[in-house]
Amino acid sequence: MTRVTIIVPCYNEEEMLPLFLKKAEELFKNDEKYTFDFVYVNDGSKDKTLDILREASKNSDRISYISLSKNFGQDAALAAGLKEASGDVAIPIDCDMQDPPELIFELLKKYEEGYDVVNPQRSKRETDTIFKKESAGLFYKFVNKIAGKEVIPPNVSMYRLISRKALDYLNSLPESDRVLRTEVPFVGLKTCNVQFERQPREAGKTKYNLLKLLDLAERTIVNATNRLLNLVVKIGVILSVIGGLGALACLICFGYFKSGINDPYATAAEVLRMTSALDCVEYATMFFLAALIVGLVAVILYVPCMYLKVMHTNTQHRPTYLIGEKFDSEQSVKNSKEEKAE
Ligand code: UDP
Ligand code: MG
Repeated sequence: MTRVTIIVPCYNEEEMLPLFLKKAEELFKNDEKYTFDFVYVNDGSKDKTLDILREASKNSDRISYISLSKNFGQDAALAAGLKEASGDVAIPIDCDMQDPPELIFELLKKYEEGYDVVNPQRSKRETDTIFKKESAGLFYKFVNKIAGKEVIPPNVSMYRLISRKALDYLNSLPESDRVLRTEVPFVGLKTCNVQFERQPREAGKTKYNLLKLLDLAERTIVNATNRLLNLVVKIGVILSVIGGLGALACLICFGYFKSGINDPYATAAEVLRMTSALDCVEYATMFFLAALIVGLVAVILYVPCMYLKVMHTNTQHRPTYLIGEKFDSEQSVKNSKEEKAE
């Protein structure tokens, strides 16, 4: 018998949640092979999400919920859910049906074959906009390239199967700025991918605007690797070499035109041409050097700032999330008791 805890982060999902609850009830029946329980995490929703969860937990002995005191973001909501998971495996899943719940049975088959982590990997991203598709692809390549190894598997979101062993490792990570998509590969253990096609959102809208996506991208890079610092040094060296060579070339041109002007045999027209060429070289040198210095300083300062931001968050030792309200389902209490007894 495998106890499966499904973790569902919800932020303003009043439209989607009733559909997901219905689907989950239909799909995941307890039998001699599996028992399912659900941990819904209300991530500071402002709509009726919490009311729907309270009601659902009354009508089922398998539905727990945690309501965070405000919106902490999807990663923090998942961290809260993973901490509460009482099963032998935990499966975080979005509640908008973009991650097909039916796939969970395929993930469980892989778990039975001995895998600790099973990553559903999007074979196609047809439902995403061209911008999201292309930027995501480039982003995965960029992060893995600078890290020098695969620190985030491409086209894998938060939807995964995580064994109890991997889950205990994840829950023991001390950082407060959590980024699940980099933490699971960090934990390692026996891992495989399963291909699937991401579906369109069934109701409601995405909760990620461009700013939230950029924030996630930045935190993902910093969490995944600190080798971007090396890259900055490399860029700095390259720019300095280009700057140095450019300045040298300008200096040679300067000398050439200057001696041309001072040439006693030069005609008045040649002197005039060289004088204006000299002016151009002077302006080019100043512009080139100024742009180079501003670019260098900006790049060099931006990257340590990214790391400092995360170090700041982590050294504050603030909790990743705070719970406003909590309810444990009968099934989860039973799971915890059984786990302690084993
Ligand atoms: N979510 C959350 N907190 C947030 C943003 C999103 O708990 O601050 C949840 C959301 O309710 C959904 C999942 O995370 O279940 C994925 O969000 P969304 O579908 O908006 O992301 P997308 O699929 O557009 O990347
Ligand atoms: Mg979605």
